[in-house]
Formats: sequence, structure tokens, C-alpha cells
Amino acid sequence: MRPDPLYARYPFFRAAREAVQRADISPPRLVTEGDPAVERARERVERALMSGTVESETPERWSDRDELLSYPIARILVSLVDVRAAVEKYAEAEAATAFDRLTDDLTADDEALRSVETPPRVDLATVLDEFDLTDAVTRVDDDRHRARYRIDVDAYLRLADPDWGDGWRLVNRDLAAGEVPIAGEELHRLLREAVRRRVADGLPFDVRGSAAGDELAAALDADVRTLRDRLAERERLPDIDTVAPAQFPPCMQALLDGEQGDLPPHAAFAATAFLVSLGLDADTIAERWPVLDDDHLDYRVTVLDDRSGSQYPAPSCATMQTFGDCVNPDARCETIDHPLRYYASAVAERDTADGAAD
Ligand code: SF4
Repeated sequence: MRPDPLYARYPFFRAAREAVQRADISPPRLVTEGDPAVERARERVERALMSGTVESETPERWSDRDELLSYPIARILVSLVDVRAAVEKYAEAEAATAFDRLTDDLTADDEALRSVETPPRVDLATVLDEFDLTDAVTRVDDDRHRARYRIDVDAYLRLADPDWGDGWRLVNRDLAAGEVPIAGEELHRLLREAVRRRVADGLPFDVRGSAAGDELAAALDADVRTLRDRLAERERLPDIDTVAPAQFPPCMQALLDGEQGDLPPHAAFAATAFLVSLGLDADTIAERWPVLDDDHLDYRVTVLDDRSGSQYPAPSCATMQTFGDCVNPDARCETIDHPLRYYASAVAERDTADGAAD
């Protein structure tokens, strides 16, 4: 099987799923034969649950085929884990990764589009068609870098969530002739939601119930148990509602002090997740740490502070190191594996010292 490389980047596209069906590939056989797509599927789910992305840490290891086939296997794994928070985190992570790729593709300049070095890119017409939005979205200007659109109000209401912030409420929009004006970034946000819903659709499904399904579940049992353990471990992170910036770990102090300049998305996600874990809301975060006060802050906080129980944990030290966000580690860092554990330890030590001084 030599799939269209675009399907490796967007495995939830209808044509990608059809390509997998046409190839008549049997997931149980992939699992029992130890196909690399299965290992990539494990990584896909683990990264989704732990780090909010399905991007591989070692992309050079995987072929387009591995990437494409890992998607249906990842769906099987998530169904077997069968925890609602896992399904939600997985769908959100697929959507977040697709959003980054779509944004890259749709904002690529002409030089990048011609380059043979870059992966194949999708255009907006293809994405709108994929989600049956072709007739619902109209471009209203020709400025390549500040694109503006109008979207049919029904499509807008179907995809936009008022919890994303007041700006998304219809009463705050200039509705005219059944259409809502939106900026290019807002259209990408709506497309991200369309991806999330498509990924979540049908999850979890019943894997068992047939001889092949039972065999598959048995073959993946160790992976499923590991994923459940990892999920539970993340949920056992210390629950602290004290806000004491002097006790923040060095990585967070560096990110929040703006030492790193404008924060790339992974760093903004990490720092916001850390602060949301302490119970802070978007307004407080924006006021106290201007480096996080960007157009995406409300949305990040909404996703991170999902009260349905699927809250993303702040990234671990290992993830911070992978993204180059582990800055200025000190002696305490050698005793912990997570910035929240660093913080819990530092707060406890301060409280003990204060108690001794009283
Ligand atoms: S080791 Fe962990 S807590 Fe310490 S600076 Fe690095 S990421 Fe932060």
C-alpha cells in the first residue's frame, strides 16, 4: 500500500478512510504481525492523552503508510481504553494537530507551496468540501494574509461554541443576510471543531463481540492497561490551589516572565495548562502574565479547564524537555518528573519554613 501522503497528514478525511477500506487491511493481522503502524498507533494515543497532540516525537521513523494505518488502530485502542476522558482527549488532540497542519498549509506562501522539501499541502476548497461547507463559506476579500469570509449562520451555529468566549456569541456578530463575517483564523477554528467532531463520532465503539474482535482486544490488552495506568497517573497529579509565583518551577518562571519572548503554541499551552491547574481563569492569567494574553487564550483555557473531567494535565518534564521548554532546571528538578510536583514540593517546603519561623 502506497497511500497519498496527504492522507497521512489528514487520516480522518473520507478519502483516507476509503483508501484504508479498499486496501482491505486487517487490524488483527497488523497487531499480531507487529506492524509498525501499531507502534505508531500506541504513540498516537499516548501523546494524545499525555500531551494534547498526536504528532510523533520521531516523525522520521514512520512512513506515510504507518501514519495512515495508525489512525484506525488508534481508534481501536481508544475504544478499548473506554474511558470518556480518554475519548475526549484523543479527539481534541487529533483536532489540535490537524489545526496546526491546516493553519500551516493554508497560510503557506507560494514559495513553500512549490518546494519539494515540504509535505503535500491541502487547500481551503478541499477542506471545505471535506466538511460539506463549500456552499456555506464565501471569501470576501483578496488579501492573502488577512483573509476574511462570510459563513452561513446555520453552519456557524453548528460549529461555534459560545463557551469559546463572548466574541463567538451571535449577538456580538454582525449578522447580515443570513451570514456571519469571520476572520481567516476564526474559520480555521471552526474547521478544527469540525475535525474534533468527526474524530469523536462513533467513539468508543464495541471492539469485542466477534472472534476477530476478541482476539484483537486480547492482543492489545497490555497496551490498553498501560494507557489506562498513564491516564490515572496523570490524574493523580497534586491538586494545589495556592498561587505562589516565587515557588513556580524554573521552566514556568522563564516562560511566564517573557524571557523566551513570544511563546510558540506548545509553550503557551504548557504555561496555560500549569496555571489552569492552579485554578486560575483566563482574565486572571491575562492580567498577571501578559505573555499569555493572545487571541487564543480564552480557547486554551476553555479546553484545558473542561469541567466534564477531561481536563488536560500540564505537560510533564519529559514533554517539556522534548519541546525545549525545560529551562534553567535546578536541584529540585532532579527529584521530580512534573512541573506540578516541583511546585507542590516548593510550596510544602515554604510552608514548613514559615511554620518553623512562627
Ligand atoms: S525539570 Fe521539569 S520542573 Fe524542572 S525546569 Fe525542567 S520541566 Fe521544569
